[in-house]
Amino acid sequence: MEKDKVLIGEYIGTIEEFVPGKGTFAEDGKIYSAIIGEVELDKANQTVRVKGKTIPELEVGQVVFGEIVNIRRNNITVIVKRIRGFDLEMDEKTSLYVSNIADKYVEKAEDLFGIGDIIEGEIIRIHGGMVSLTTKGGYGVVLAFCKRCRHRLEKTDKYKDKLICPNCAHEEKRKIAADYGNVKDV
Ligand SMILES: [Zn+2]
Repeated sequence: MEKDKVLIGEYIGTIEEFVPGKGTFAEDGKIYSAIIGEVELDKANQTVRVKGKTIPELEVGQVVFGEIVNIRRNNITVIVKRIRGFDLEMDEKTSLYVSNIADKYVEKAEDLFGIGDIIEGEIIRIHGGMVSLTTKGGYGVVLAFCKRCRHRLEKTDKYKDKLICPNCAHEEKRKIAADYGNVKDV
């Protein structure tokens, strides 16, 4: 059987063909999907299951990856794309306040981040639909782009708090995550 997207209640096959697994239910000898997702067949035991695409809720304590879409003096808007540990894409609007950027005092958020940068942060507060992040400690940008030419910036041994553009040699200050350059697929 080929991998296929199914809706709730969609017919998958018969119990003569397959063993009904997780995300399915059987009725009158027929197997149906119990959730929205992708059909997978475990050939070793002929078990058919549906792998769900339900996006998990954001929770305090989760580590997330997101793209910076807006920077004001006191607040950065981050669209969270992925929760660490979940292989699912999402688009959730969150905020990173200037006081939560670093352990030391930060005057202006724009001094340490750029539009389009990808950050790794932790959810510290959810209140009235507002999700707040922190990049204190080892969090910060995991991928950043040159403000001059948009090339991907690289870590350098020269500085702890600056990245360098291999294209135009521009040096830019960032709150750099311990994971800079090591996070894939964000
Ligand atoms: Zn550049």
